[in-house]
Amino acid sequence: TTARRPLMAGNWKMNLTHLEAIALVQKLAFSLTDDDLEKVEVVVLPPFTHIRSVQTLVDADKLNIGYGAQDLSQHVAGAYTGEISGAQLAKLGCTYAVAGHSERRQYHHEDDALVNAKVKAALEHELAPILCIGEPLEVRQEGRHVEHTLAQLDGGLDGLTAQQAATVVVAYEPVWAIGTGEVATPDDAQEMAAAIRERLGKLYDAEVAKAVRVLYGGSVKSSNIKPIMERTDVDGALVGGASLDAQEFALIARYH
Ligand code: PEP
Repeated sequence: TTARRPLMAGNWKMNLTHLEAIALVQKLAFSLTDDDLEKVEVVVLPPFTHIRSVQTLVDADKLNIGYGAQDLSQHVAGAYTGEISGAQLAKLGCTYAVAGHSERRQYHHEDDALVNAKVKAALEHELAPILCIGEPLEVRQEGRHVEHTLAQLDGGLDGLTAQQAATVVVAYEPVWAIGTGEVATPDDAQEMAAAIRERLGKLYDAEVAKAVRVLYGGSVKSSNIKPIMERTDVDGALVGGASLDAQEFALIARYH
């Protein structure tokens, strides 16, 4: 057994209006019992424009559901048109911020140095970074998936103290499994989660390796989550498409 609390995070991506966001969080809260939320931490990651509405609902109904952002600026404040800072997110009650999602890496050319700056910007404002790493299909076919993913881990965590690293959530998301319906096998997820934990032990110490939660992400559904969650080093999931359906996401959160 482990002291790590399972985490299920719903990445809504660029979907829903703020009104639909409120309805989805209400439904989600209705679908989850106090018992569920005691066992598992449930978090939603709405678009920036919906976070204020989610905050209002969560506060008013005292919901035991967390929320965070899908991205953040590496900068603190200033002339960065269109960007959103960690301070602004923290002020809205966010507790998490994703850094380095593969869609940001692919469509916005985010490299490990930028992702590292975003991880640091999140930590600066007491947001727990959800650092996303994972290999594209070609890299897996060449058998270099572990090496590739661990290099992204090293890059993303560069310069962090052990104390900071212990608060990071690492999401292993193989690019070929995101939004494709092709889920990694429980063996694939465990192999990488264990490799990530081993590397954390080398970069820091056994305590950090034991504390960090490692999520799996990529076409997670209620029908495939159970055997993945049964693996020793997998502590939760980053869920895209399936998190837009309250009942389905609640079933994923209740994976047992
Ligand atoms: C994601 O975007 O983080 C993700 C895992 O998406 P999906 O669940 O839709 O594959």
